[in-house]
Amino acid sequence: MRPDCFVVHYHEIALKGQNRVFFERKLRQNILWTAGKLGIREVRLLRGRILVFPTAQYDIDGLIAALKNVFGIAYFAPAYKAAQDPDAITEIALKLADSHTFSSFRISTQRAKKTFPMGSVQLNSHIGTLVQKKTGARVDLKKAEFTIFIEIFDSDAILYCERIEGAGGLPVGVSNTAAVLLSSGIDSPVAAYKIMRRGVNLVFVHFHSMPVTSAASVENTKRLVQRLARHQKKAKLYLVPFLEIQQHITSLTPPSYRVLLYRRMMMRIAEKFAFKNKGKALVTGENVGQVASQTLPNMLAINEVAHLPVLRPLAGDDKQDIINFAQKIGTFAISIEPYDDCCSLFVPDNPETSAKPDKIMEYEQNLPIDQLVKTAVKETEMIILGKNGKDSAKQNG
Ligand code: ATP
Ligand code: MG
Repeated sequence: MRPDCFVVHYHEIALKGQNRVFFERKLRQNILWTAGKLGIREVRLLRGRILVFPTAQYDIDGLIAALKNVFGIAYFAPAYKAAQDPDAITEIALKLADSHTFSSFRISTQRAKKTFPMGSVQLNSHIGTLVQKKTGARVDLKKAEFTIFIEIFDSDAILYCERIEGAGGLPVGVSNTAAVLLSSGIDSPVAAYKIMRRGVNLVFVHFHSMPVTSAASVENTKRLVQRLARHQKKAKLYLVPFLEIQQHITSLTPPSYRVLLYRRMMMRIAEKFAFKNKGKALVTGENVGQVASQTLPNMLAINEVAHLPVLRPLAGDDKQDIINFAQKIGTFAISIEPYDDCCSLFVPDNPETSAKPDKIMEYEQNLPIDQLVKTAVKETEMIILGKNGKDSAKQNG
């Protein structure tokens, strides 16, 4: 049976009280840009759920794959429309039962329209009896193999039996904008995904040391952003030339403090791009204790130069959990492609793990910080990437 529409359910939005309308509209917008090209005729907001009506020629697999990428959706289901009449609903329920194999089942009706001639319990047992007769399966209200869900609205009714898990979270765009410092490693793409799933629109900032390093880190980063842009209409990627800054730092700073000073410069520059986009936070993939630069004293030293809050969604995660997550969201394979990391340039094997504020002051004193930041910002290239990478445009940062 070809579904007439998709019913979309969301959890968290329902909790947002007065903001609910704003959240629902955002979700509708995001569904339209994610899946609209695949053939959507209408997205209808109903109480507590959304109905997505496809065009006659729509691509069902494509539409399901696209809906799985929309943050804010708890689950969705291909659904079948029925007139608001017990016989019409029963007929479709029997067709659904006929096209599936199961040994136990239940019928679950939700009735938004209270004037419907039958109560939910009454309709469940009426249809249940008929399904039982037709299939020989037993009714199991607690652990049914197969459930027919019926939802009765003011104007019509829908039935569905296959719930598909959504990406969860909140619709992108309901929680302002932030700038994520995106390397082409494993962690920062996961950090970006987690914050985006909380409804935050992200701009991406990547630092590279070309031409001393190859273009691989930039190419991998573009692919990562494209992957993440499945969840966000368009993604701005700022490609910051970092070599000159690294050379300055190297010439003035003992090896053990270099990574720390690199990070502080990254923060200062990333924050400029956050401000440019009315961003309210910075995001990194840092993780407590993972490497020497990610100890608490060093994170404190990194934070000191930022005016915006620094979000570290992976701070308390185990590496294996981060890897599993990266595999699940499809960034891992890109992240493990070989690339030269700009931060491994000119640094020792034993960096400082407990940064001393007076040392940092001493080393930064001779660094023309404002000028370096200004130049880096000016020389930054900005690319806009869409989810299929085609609609990209270039201009200076
Ligand atoms: P990742 O896997 O995200 O690279 P990591 O465990 O390798 O993280 P570091 O390389 O120390 O850790 O980087 C810590 C964080 O600093 C990264 O998660 C990222 O947010 C930021 N960062 C590091 N290098 C870059 C870069 N070249 N461009 C942008 N951000 C970077
Ligand atoms: Mg890294």
